Amino acid sequence: MPDSFRFDRLFIGGEWVEPLDGGVRPSIDPATGAPWGDVAWGGERDVDRAVAAAKEAFEGPWRKIPPWERAALLRKFADLYATRVDALAEIETRDNGRAVRESRGDIGMHAQYYHWFASLADKLGGRTIPMDDSVHAFTTRHPVGVVGAITPWNVPLMAAAWKLGAALAAGCTVVLKPAEQTPASSLALARLFDEAGFPPGVVNVVPGDGPVAGARLVAHPDVAKISFTGEGATAKTILKTGADTLTRCTFELGGKAPHIIFADADLDQAINAATGSAWALCGQSCALGSRVLVERPVYDRVVEAFRERAGRVRVGMPLDPATHMGPQAHRQQLDKTLSYVAIGRGEGAELVTGGARIDRDGLADGYFVEPTVFAGVSAAMRIAQEEIFGPVAALIPFDGEEEAIAIANATPYGLAAGLWSGDTGRAHRVAARIEAGMVWVNTYRYIRWSTPYGGVKASGWGRENGLEGLDPFLETKTTIVSTTGTFPDPFAS
Ligand code: ADP
Repeated sequence: MPDSFRFDRLFIGGEWVEPLDGGVRPSIDPATGAPWGDVAWGGERDVDRAVAAAKEAFEGPWRKIPPWERAALLRKFADLYATRVDALAEIETRDNGRAVRESRGDIGMHAQYYHWFASLADKLGGRTIPMDDSVHAFTTRHPVGVVGAITPWNVPLMAAAWKLGAALAAGCTVVLKPAEQTPASSLALARLFDEAGFPPGVVNVVPGDGPVAGARLVAHPDVAKISFTGEGATAKTILKTGADTLTRCTFELGGKAPHIIFADADLDQAINAATGSAWALCGQSCALGSRVLVERPVYDRVVEAFRERAGRVRVGMPLDPATHMGPQAHRQQLDKTLSYVAIGRGEGAELVTGGARIDRDGLADGYFVEPTVFAGVSAAMRIAQEEIFGPVAALIPFDGEEEAIAIANATPYGLAAGLWSGDTGRAHRVAARIEAGMVWVNTYRYIRWSTPYGGVKASGWGRENGLEGLDPFLETKTTIVSTTGTFPDPFAS
């Protein structure tokens, strides 16, 4: 195995160190169900070491470096990242099974995220606040301190880019804990930070179990903030664990995004977007349009188009560039998806196509599942309410704007939504009333460094990316200076 594919050390304080607690664990390739590499596994003492290193770096070199030099380092890192896209994509694909054509496309954009954050690093000024002549009032902005970044298995490097880019630009230091199922790419990322010349301890990477390493990171008194992407249930645990230390949290949680197709839409384009976003990442992204709401006059056409497109999805080995859709990222996710297929059938939804594990030659040991379409879905069904995270599209018919909005808002989630209509007024009317952090009109899943991303309701707290993406990593200090230096004696009379 080439050295670039060795992941059996943790990255702490600028050193590659053996775990004190956890040892080394195999990482499973979901396309084969077999281990593909050994990954260092940290426990509580490793997290403690990493936090100590991050704290030392925060209080030492990182705080003293002028912001334009932080920016320059981030840019250097971004340029390096851009040269390693293929290797990073391969590592991520081996860990989570995402079709490499998708991994490359996604990871190919990450350098721009780091450049965007670099461009903000030296522009974090405050405001002067108009009062009266007796005072000069102004604000300054300061990094919160050590950040714990806890990332999920579906998009480990993207989540790391959003969290680390913003945290480092703000002047924080970071301990990154990737998900159990996909730790390798984060250690590959650590190599790039090392190579780019970041001071020791500014970035530390410790894979490990969520309830052990993750929980220790949350509970650690020297961690000022947790930036988390994952499940709502885990976020609630994190809030409780972090309560004693009043740890600040931002959460990117689940979604059940409505993708609304009105009868007056450009149907070909809408179907491109809706089918693409049903099966991208094998259905494993919270912003995908897993609920497709279709106005009744075009409902049958859209169902038929989904059936036809499902037949064209090339499911296969994810490292094959021809493959459209790889396996589910791990065994539990495969079981979860199949269980929801059974739930949908039990609820009376019509299984139009798919729904089974793929056991053809070469794929039988991996966690492959067919692109799946349910029609005749009603808003109250569990397959329309709960996040499946598999390649399962639930097609829900509706009549008119009011019903579309009611169905769109009738889940606990509020991450993203899409709508297709040829009527500009309608597009604005409906977009304004959808409860979601992001609404895409006549496009879908347009996600970029400069556009804020995040949810309302059960989909999370806070925003990543955009100018807003730095706010959670900064504190505002207000300074008020008297121009007179006089202060009345309160007891004079
Ligand atoms: P999923 O079910 O999609 O794997 P999770 O919310 O369980 O989502 O995992 C997302 C991230 O949260 C992973 O890095 C995981 O290790 C971490 N995690 C899980 N449990 C905890 C916990 N109790 N405290 C902190 N982090 C956790």
